[in-house]
Amino acid sequence: MKVALSEVRSYDVSAIRSTLERSLVDLDLSFAGARTAVVKPNIVTGRPPNSGVVTHPAVIEALVQLLRDAGVSRITLADGPGVGLDCDWVFEKSGYRALADRLGVQLLTFNGVARRQREWKYGKVGVPEMLEDADLYINVPKMKTHGYTTVTLSMKNHKGMLSQADKKLDHHLGLHEPLAEQARLRPPDLIVLDGIVGLEGDGPLNGKRVRSNLLAVGTNMLALDATVARHMGIEPGEVKHLVFAAEKGLGTLDPEVIGQAPVRRFARANEEYGRVGNIYSWRDCTACSMCIDSFSGAVALAVKEPRYWFTLVPKLAWWGLIGGLHIVQGREGRLPNRPGKVICFGKCTGELAAREGLTHIAGCPPTAREVAETLRKGL
Ligand code: SF4
Repeated sequence: MKVALSEVRSYDVSAIRSTLERSLVDLDLSFAGARTAVVKPNIVTGRPPNSGVVTHPAVIEALVQLLRDAGVSRITLADGPGVGLDCDWVFEKSGYRALADRLGVQLLTFNGVARRQREWKYGKVGVPEMLEDADLYINVPKMKTHGYTTVTLSMKNHKGMLSQADKKLDHHLGLHEPLAEQARLRPPDLIVLDGIVGLEGDGPLNGKRVRSNLLAVGTNMLALDATVARHMGIEPGEVKHLVFAAEKGLGTLDPEVIGQAPVRRFARANEEYGRVGNIYSWRDCTACSMCIDSFSGAVALAVKEPRYWFTLVPKLAWWGLIGGLHIVQGREGRLPNRPGKVICFGKCTGELAAREGLTHIAGCPPTAREVAETLRKGL
């Protein structure tokens, strides 16, 4: 197993394209004979191309050019943005709608596509038919740290093809081992990692953009992720899903590396909590991202709607600047050891809230409106 590393200093499409061409030659890979391709960037939410949060569209454009030159005539870009998000908004903000229109390729969300039920360690899981049927599946992750999984690279990006229900189930199953097991489901034919600009610290959404100048290409997710993690200053043995994948024989932690790029040590995410001012969201890998997205949605409502301007907005400001607010989520959520109000989110925390007599917002996830109203009236 080989991984090709290159130093790339900008999102210039022609520079990325020539680097990709060289990497494919180094890895002895070609697209010959392929007619259809599904390309899966990381478009987890609606952040701009340069945010460090989403795969930069320039990398996808370079890839699409190469695919077309090789005779691949049907190219689809697809991802499953965070559950509960408006996909049109996500594609618009991230630059993917404009890219797809300009290139004349299809842009889809995996949410709602036809699936075949496949056996896996935990029973059955739905795999998109379009992914299984494509001649090529190309996984194009972003290089980021992550509060639950230490890093999010190709194996974590691969999870985006699951249905929303299966994504929730993944968390209930403990996340790390299911991530490894998913590597058996329609593995990619090619991986192109965008590490030209990455995200360090409080990833995958709220970290700090970092210029890391790396483009990595390979065919095995574990091999590529282990190599890239080392470039982030993180030993693969510290990343639980990579360890599970290695134990299951799904690749190697020590592939042959072709080429080189400078190591850029990434600051890690705090694995205990995410924080904006004194508003904390306590981490538990059994919680999917939806509950915290509902809180973000409630904040957006508070800013947008006049009815909240003199009710919820002052409360949020007080909690954020002085008083403290703690959002507890997940089936193994625990009580914070810091001063402030505590609120339990979603059905996962129902038992904890009842046992401790805490304010609870039910739902899976609760809607942004329910969250806004509870925060406005209660606490
Ligand atoms: S309650 Fe919240 S964290 Fe738990 S599965 Fe539902 S949406 Fe996810």
